[in-house]
Amino acid sequence: MMTTAPRPRERPNANADADAAMRALGNALLSLLERDQAPPCALDDRWTSDDHTTRADVAKHCQPCPLLDPCDTAATATKARFGTWAGIDRTPRGRTT
Ligand code: SF4
Repeated sequence: MMTTAPRPRERPNANADADAAMRALGNALLSLLERDQAPPCALDDRWTSDDHTTRADVAKHCQPCPLLDPCDTAATATKARFGTWAGIDRTPRGRTT
């Protein structure tokens, strides 16, 4: 009896979309850094604070960020479930970590 090798698992498109979105965000960030600029959240842990009020308060600082669109796309594609991304606190209510 002849056996066939198992087919490699295909990557779901969602993973490919998430990878592409994160790559696009990374490239946009590198481009910004090359111009000696940084997003408002750089080196600021309030965006990932355990405190909901803190995360909500910093959300308004995302609006002028040049990475707003790729950040939103990346958060959506990766189904981000913690922290503030693109002006939206993605942490479900009640979750603290
Ligand atoms: S839009 Fe994204 S990259 Fe820009 S400050 Fe907000 S969380 Fe940071």
